[in-house]
Amino acid sequence: MLSLKNTLSSLSEMNAKTTKNLQSLGIKTVEDLLYYFPFRYEDFSQQKKIIDIRPGETITVRGKIINIKTPPTRIPKKITEVYIEDETASVKAVWFNFSLPLKFLAKGKFVQFSGKVSLYRGKEIYFQHPNFELINKTIFEKSEESYQISSKTGSTSGLVPIYPENRNVNSYFLRRLIRLILTRVELNEFIPTNFIKEQKLPNLKKALNDIHFPKSQKDFILAKKRFAFEKMFLIQLRAFSLKQTWEKNSAISIPFNKKITKHFLDSLPFKLTNAQKKASWQILQDLEKNQPMNRLLEGDVGSGKTIVAILAILSALNQGLQIAVLVPTEVLAIQHYLEIIKLLEKYQFKIGLLTGSQNKLNYLHQQKDNKNKISKTKFYEKIRIGEVSLVIGTHAIIQDKINFKNLSLIIIDEQHRFGVKQRSFLQQNAMKIGDENKKNLPHLLTMTATPIPRTLSLALFGNLDLSIVDEFPKGKKKIITKVIPPQDRDQVYNFIEQQVKQKKQVFIICPLVEESSKISEVKSVKEEFEKLNQNIFPKLSLGLLHGKMRPKEKEKSMTDFKKGKYNILVSTSVVEVGIDIPNATIMVIEGAERFGLAQLHQFRGRVGRGQDQSYCFLFTSNNVSDSTTRLKVMEKTNNGFKIAKEDLKLRGPGQFIGTLQSGIPDVTMESLSDIKLIQAARIYAQSLLKYDSKLKKFPLLKEKSDFLSKQIHFE
Ligand code: ADP
Ligand code: MG
Repeated sequence: MLSLKNTLSSLSEMNAKTTKNLQSLGIKTVEDLLYYFPFRYEDFSQQKKIIDIRPGETITVRGKIINIKTPPTRIPKKITEVYIEDETASVKAVWFNFSLPLKFLAKGKFVQFSGKVSLYRGKEIYFQHPNFELINKTIFEKSEESYQISSKTGSTSGLVPIYPENRNVNSYFLRRLIRLILTRVELNEFIPTNFIKEQKLPNLKKALNDIHFPKSQKDFILAKKRFAFEKMFLIQLRAFSLKQTWEKNSAISIPFNKKITKHFLDSLPFKLTNAQKKASWQILQDLEKNQPMNRLLEGDVGSGKTIVAILAILSALNQGLQIAVLVPTEVLAIQHYLEIIKLLEKYQFKIGLLTGSQNKLNYLHQQKDNKNKISKTKFYEKIRIGEVSLVIGTHAIIQDKINFKNLSLIIIDEQHRFGVKQRSFLQQNAMKIGDENKKNLPHLLTMTATPIPRTLSLALFGNLDLSIVDEFPKGKKKIITKVIPPQDRDQVYNFIEQQVKQKKQVFIICPLVEESSKISEVKSVKEEFEKLNQNIFPKLSLGLLHGKMRPKEKEKSMTDFKKGKYNILVSTSVVEVGIDIPNATIMVIEGAERFGLAQLHQFRGRVGRGQDQSYCFLFTSNNVSDSTTRLKVMEKTNNGFKIAKEDLKLRGPGQFIGTLQSGIPDVTMESLSDIKLIQAARIYAQSLLKYDSKLKKFPLLKEKSDFLSKQIHFE
């Protein structure tokens, strides 16, 4: 018997070429192969006699092979033709550059074709690139009755699995191999069986058989559900065990100081929103504990996360402890540095800025020599002895050279902008830079401006505690949003010219380039830029920003825009998050229907930072009412959580999460849209770990879960 862990190359059926081909699909082991799921099934049960088929329909016919031809062609394309007949008529199937039929089909054998019926030169009916399956004579003869396709072809019912293919591997090959392996592999359930039973899901063996070779639609639906559950369960197990491990660490308790907090809040020109109060309170309570906080603070752009973070910072500062604030880019670091200095001006704390190219200390200002730059070595020394209490910067902060005296709190802003690898690096290193004697971990607060509905957050970041700021400060102006059909563009262009006269600035986001399209994103944005520059706004100054620019170039583009060098910044979807350009009041998004609502919302968040009324124009490329209805959601609300929910409902989690977390497998995606399933998986995972925290009694499960941890990174 084979086991899931066996590599395929060890099988006698495999040769070097097939092994390599499968590897090009990421399939190395038996498990990889069996978990390579079909993305759809062809329904072979819709069949007709040859005489009855009509051009344009998608249908299955069966017949005896009467001829096979490979006619010579002038074009460098190989043609394969296979003729079949039943008792009513004959028909041919044609394949271009696809010789597989020649390998399996021969005169006198019986076959079924399934595919689209085409018409050649207006008269001759034929199948173009049909799927084909060998069948045996008996089946052919009693075609109308129930049928069993020869097991050699790898299929057992009317539903034939179609897999994601590439040049070297096709579904036909995969079906045969999977069918073979399934008969030879030993499959042991690794999820506790009572969970499976309670959820009314098939066990591993049945589910694998059903997802590849379902006898009915119900079979594969349940099988898919099982794998979605399996994935979510493993993810949650991993999350909870990470959480357990994290909580075993100790941290410096930072007591809540009511007087100081109140004093600070009273000095602000506004009152906290309820959402801010709640989040702050959750964080301040976490800080009091002797175990490190690991919390995610989620809130829309402009929801006021900074103040919430400042309250935590203030608490730590008052205890004479150090804090590090990490942000993804230098521009953002400087922005935060200036903002935080201003907010904490009245206290005598020593605050530093540290990025790849900048080292500054605020209090050196006060030494009247008006020079707040400092050498790196000196800076590091001041951090080491604890003279600098708060360091704000990019990941330049995290280096072996830099040691803190008593780092007790790390705040990571715009966390999703750090890559997955960077994030886990940050977290691991954050632990290392803890305090001098490495006994304590710093408390960790991550912040994101991407509003994700709570359930989805729990599913994705199950190891973190969650605080959500889902309310805007009173008096924050709503960004006026309008969906603009093609015929109304000129009005917007005129409006832009007027606004620019009043020194306002404008973002124009170019449409997503469709994957199938030949033109590249860069080419498209450059074309758009030229068009706008020459035809539409010849008198204005325009800047350009796209993903193929180097990080430094991107930052320069943004900084120049911020400085007012351009009236308009034309950009692809890479435009920086978090950057504050109060003067930018107009956001135009071209081809808006191609973006998800959540992403449109992110773009919109680039404007509306200042005091003035801001606008967002969603240009559509046509008047299609479907997409317009969807986009109208943006006109109605500015609340990212509402929009995220709507987006999730309309487009599913795949689109929604998109750039946020790439590399999530399909089944996981599917599981993310099933809230009940996420909740069930969480409850099961938690209860199992309570009962057996190291999974000693569940070795198979432990192995699976350890394996998964290498694939999916958590915050
Ligand atoms: P973000 O969540 O995007 O980081 P910020 O913390 O930068 O948002 O806050 C955006 C703006 O709102 C800042 O100018 C801040 O001073 C202001 N602000 C924050 N909280 C409140 C409040 N409760 N009432 C009024 N204004 C607030
Ligand atoms: Mg912010």
